[in-house]
Amino acid sequence: MVYYKTEDQIDFLRNSSLLVCKTLALVGTLVKPGVTTLELDRIAEEFIRDNSAVPGFKGLYGCPSTLLTSVNSQVVHGLPSSTQLKDGDIVSIDCGVLMNDFYGDVAYTFEVGEVEDNIRELLKTTKECLKLGIDAAVAGNRIGDIGFAIQNHAESHGYGVVRELVGHGLGKKLHEAPEVPNYGRRGAGMLLKECLVIAIEPMINLKSRAVKQLEDGWTIATLDGLCSAHYEHNVVVRKGRAEILSDHSIIEEALNKNRI
Ligand code: MG
Ligand code: MG
Repeated sequence: MVYYKTEDQIDFLRNSSLLVCKTLALVGTLVKPGVTTLELDRIAEEFIRDNSAVPGFKGLYGCPSTLLTSVNSQVVHGLPSSTQLKDGDIVSIDCGVLMNDFYGDVAYTFEVGEVEDNIRELLKTTKECLKLGIDAAVAGNRIGDIGFAIQNHAESHGYGVVRELVGHGLGKKLHEAPEVPNYGRRGAGMLLKECLVIAIEPMINLKSRAVKQLEDGWTIATLDGLCSAHYEHNVVVRKGRAEILSDHSIIEEALNKNRI
């Protein structure tokens, strides 16, 4: 069942999505060598509850945490741990909130200290993939147009596009129909209509697209042990141009301010 949203519902979704971005901005400024993802998780949960919302992931499908924190070769669904982040790592942080009955779901990959150039290039390209996917999310296009745009850009750089996990509809449930794969064929799949709200979230690997699940039953990691990046936006399908509900600039401005 695909739920198209009313403008009032979209307002709620925007507020939830922006609260996730503020949460990611807060924890993002704390990402540095020596910090543990467990500490970030505690701070994120407190911030979300202080803002009259509840963590969106915690308790859902048995998820134990507010954040999912995936370090280096971990793609997504990494569980916060007491392992310290170290210089040169990357950490993909995925966060959800539930507020006024609607979910926000946003992810961003952060650099820890100084990251190697080839990894920085992976992050940049994954962000570009997300932007190209969003550009394709307009009324009259099809789901496959989004995936095609993402896959085409990633693979032209020699990167691998993870297929086992996909973007999704977003609303009163965290995962609604339709699925939004990060690969696909032009003109294939469901027709996109106005007021469909979806999470677009490319997961791009440095080399092979192959992934495995770790023994914790949660973490998805690259099979070759190389790095993977993940960025996620929440968008509304509109005529001519998609509307982005989330705002990564909140995160990036906080990081820049922190750097000065
Ligand atoms: Mg997410
Ligand atoms: Mg998502």
